[in-house]
Amino acid sequence: MKIIAGNFKSNLNRKSTIGFLKSLDSTLDNISNKEIYIFPATSSLVENNFKHIILGAQNAHYAESGAFTGEITLHHLEEFNIKTILIAHSERRNLFGESDEICATKFDFFKERDFRIFYCIGESLEVRESGKMLEFLDSQISKIDLDYQNLVLAYEPLWAIGTGRVAKAEQISEIYRFLKSRTNAPIIYGGSVNEKNASEILGICDGVLVGSASLKVESFYEIIKG
Ligand code: PEP
Repeated sequence: MKIIAGNFKSNLNRKSTIGFLKSLDSTLDNISNKEIYIFPATSSLVENNFKHIILGAQNAHYAESGAFTGEITLHHLEEFNIKTILIAHSERRNLFGESDEICATKFDFFKERDFRIFYCIGESLEVRESGKMLEFLDSQISKIDLDYQNLVLAYEPLWAIGTGRVAKAEQISEIYRFLKSRTNAPIIYGGSVNEKNASEILGICDGVLVGSASLKVESFYEIIKG
């Protein structure tokens, strides 16, 4: 079963997200062996009751509810029956200052509540070229439970996210083998995946996390179809 996940980031408003979800869901009756996830913007979350699509949250604070201005919490996800969350995306780490410690605290909180957790890791070009890439990736996963049954590990090299520069097959394979030596969790790849390169990547790892090419039903459907 391959995992195909779309991260809308801060794109598509509520109306266009609902239109997208209905339209995509209605095209997926003949698709099998694919687990399809969409992570919409927080204000576009809706009831998680589609036939073929599982909705997840791009982010949430690690609390039931409370005084956390600007954040949503478990309470808000439960309202929509959402049981999937993206944690440690590079934009959360680099733009919003989420450290490995914060990401691990989030992980533990949502793990205790049996969430499907997509946990992102990935090196910068500088780290890759320093020769310490595997050490760095190891440190990014050192604080989370790699035996957690509901974990999906998303390898997203920073230099490939939103750049149009997708990692080469041998680079993805190397990291895939390395991470598989650490965990039995599915390992998916993200970084400039599109309808042209997706099927090769899906032949190497357990799935893809797609940013910009997930924003149009047509291109995302092509990726799903494989
Ligand atoms: C992402 O941000 O998770 C991502 C993979 O983005 P893109 O596909 O646009 O590179």
